[in-house]
Amino acid sequence: MAGVSYPYPYEAPVSQTLFERASLVTPGGVNSPVRAFRAVGGTPRFMVSGTGPYLTDADGREYVDLVCSWGPMILGHAHPAVVDAVQAAVARGTSFGTPGEGEVALGEEIVARIEPVEQVRLVSSGTEATMSAIRLARGFTGRAKVVKFAGCYHGHVDALLAAAGSGLATFALPDTPGVTGAQAADTIVLPYNDLEAVRAAFAAHPGEIACVITEAAPGNMGVVTPAPGFNQGLADACRENGALYISDEVMTGFRTSRAGWYGVDGVRPDLMTFGKVMGGGFPAAAFGGRADVMGHLAPAGPVYQAGTLSGNPIATAAGLAQLRLLDDAAYAKVDAVSAEIQGLVTEALRKEGVAHRLQTASNMFSVFFTEHEGMDIRNYDDAKKQESFRFNGFFHSMLSQGVYLPPSAFESWFVSTAHDERAIERIAAALPAAARAAAEATA
Ligand code: PLP
Repeated sequence: MAGVSYPYPYEAPVSQTLFERASLVTPGGVNSPVRAFRAVGGTPRFMVSGTGPYLTDADGREYVDLVCSWGPMILGHAHPAVVDAVQAAVARGTSFGTPGEGEVALGEEIVARIEPVEQVRLVSSGTEATMSAIRLARGFTGRAKVVKFAGCYHGHVDALLAAAGSGLATFALPDTPGVTGAQAADTIVLPYNDLEAVRAAFAAHPGEIACVITEAAPGNMGVVTPAPGFNQGLADACRENGALYISDEVMTGFRTSRAGWYGVDGVRPDLMTFGKVMGGGFPAAAFGGRADVMGHLAPAGPVYQAGTLSGNPIATAAGLAQLRLLDDAAYAKVDAVSAEIQGLVTEALRKEGVAHRLQTASNMFSVFFTEHEGMDIRNYDDAKKQESFRFNGFFHSMLSQGVYLPPSAFESWFVSTAHDERAIERIAAALPAAARAAAEATA
């Protein structure tokens, strides 16, 4: 943040006090690393409430929220229909440890929306979904190796924490201690958008690769759109080599269209993973796909997978209420809001002569502060070349003016159906000074 000055009142004394308390009882003061603001510096804001497109922090300041809980809150905060569904569910009891109709209905909704998903299993986090999908792929194929792409994040699954983008990019941790050589030994990390590398990996490891897992459209190294034909090429390479193609739609699922990124590119995976939007702000996630593969899961088959709170009645009620409101009109609204904000950001940065590249995956987008304007950011190496210090100046200026962005340059921004004209005007008003802060920022 050196060289950046903030002309706005910027103290957050209550958040600061809470952060100090939090730091005594939890490592780094947060329960998920990127929340700590380490990449951008400053005091993380402790939020106390959310309504529509707004969050209010413990100091009583209101922010337009462009994080949306990292994706789930696609209808905005405290949507009345979701709140009603949750309240009704809570009143009936919170967890039974038995099957229930809510989880059947949520499963049916997912299967109805996403044609390649013939069967689905509910879990509680995206991490669990990808971890379980990989175990299933290994169990189904009888093979050990997993191909992933540098910069793609699939949750904190041991085998997938190699070159895993976002949180790890933010902290510049090349690998994480605690993952053993054995756990990572069967992971092959390849550059994103590089089909030749995928073909070479299959050639080098004949009959050994269980699956290729990829973010359907990556949002965890900033938004990097799959090159035309890339996802199809992965699906083809997997089919030709007897491996499974796993499309991780935890972030894109039910956000980038009714049927997620599958609804955009139509490439048919063998397995898919979901989370975020499908939980309506509660811990619900899922993996699903071909019935013959899913049939290998316990109790139908031998691959073990389970969860005390899987298919929890509150989480399924919230997810179902949210998905049922996500019709074509809702996606049109999210797309329109996203396009409007993208336009405003680009215009403000251009006015200040800030070199940047704005990349999109449907209504997900992020801004790379990079000299290589006009050049695609195609992979993690490209993404890492950005001038993150400019993002930091931009971020703090926006924050000080009441706009809450993801506190890292390596993240997607998220909008909701609730972002109305007032919220967009607030963003528009904040952008000129933020663009100036980006222009003036020094490393
Ligand atoms: N996969 C992708 C593509 C994600 O973006 C994330 C989280 O951001 C995950 C998996 C992990 O999900 P969770 O944080 O719910 O464990």
